[in-house]
Amino acid sequence: MTRPVALVTGASRGIGRAIALDLARHGFDIAANDLAPDSALHALVAEISALGARAVAVPFDVSDLSAHEAALSRIASELGPLTTLVNNAGVGVMQRGDPLNVSEASFDRCMAINAKALFFLCQAFARHVLANPQATAHPRAIINITSSNATAAAAPRAEYCASKAAAAMVSKCFAVRLGREGIAVYDVQPGLIETEMTAAVIDSYKQRAADGLCLFPWVGQPADVAGVVATLATNKLPYTTGHVISVDGGMLLPRF
Ligand code: NAP
Repeated sequence: MTRPVALVTGASRGIGRAIALDLARHGFDIAANDLAPDSALHALVAEISALGARAVAVPFDVSDLSAHEAALSRIASELGPLTTLVNNAGVGVMQRGDPLNVSEASFDRCMAINAKALFFLCQAFARHVLANPQATAHPRAIINITSSNATAAAAPRAEYCASKAAAAMVSKCFAVRLGREGIAVYDVQPGLIETEMTAAVIDSYKQRAADGLCLFPWVGQPADVAGVVATLATNKLPYTTGHVISVDGGMLLPRF
């Protein structure tokens, strides 16, 4: 029987890397995307192969929409029918600060990578799956990594919040459209996770988590997000779609 095949974007480091490795441990073959075919991406492919899964490096800029179709076709020809898309690639703001000073360049970059690319990769994946109905017994899913900032406003990162809120709505719309196709769509919203993206602020995040911002008084790790993604990708929440899954240590639980 063929194995399930997942495309994980932004897989060279951080949350994406943890997701790619965890899915490989759960029996997936992995198409690992990042911007450049650099040593980090190749090291990941080697690590996945050592786990006994097949892996290919599929470098492209997710915001280059013209690259999507060719990438998906290449994955299918090298690994077999795609079953799973994890839209993880994302960027923060160019500079934290007053929304009154946000640059058009930073706004456009957040929107292009965090929202527009995610929309069109969902579209390309869905078209690809529907146009290639080879028999696969595996569940099919799109898992979008958005953010707690899809929900909670952080004014010094306004353009990031806006892009993640857009991505959250994209997830809902595709869940509505793809239900009839049997493709589940989930919106995974990490909270404070220790990665390169948060390196400059992680100490203050740790303090704020300990001071009660999160119900668990610690920040999360990439493996925490990866564990949730593997749960969803392996259909451990059967007959569900369209859900927001917060991976935030309870940060956004309403309380007073
Ligand atoms: P990270 O450490 O900055 O890693 C992001 C990865 O995405 C990098 O490998 C980066 O490549 C890649 N990437 C960026 N732009 C890309 C593009 N246009 N095409 C392909 N790959 C691209 O970030 P992370 O913390 O792991 O975050 C992963 C996702 O979780 C993001 O969507 C982020 O917004 C979201 N998230 C993170 C947190 C957190 O606390 N860390 C919280 C909520 C949500 P380069 O190395 O070449 O730049």
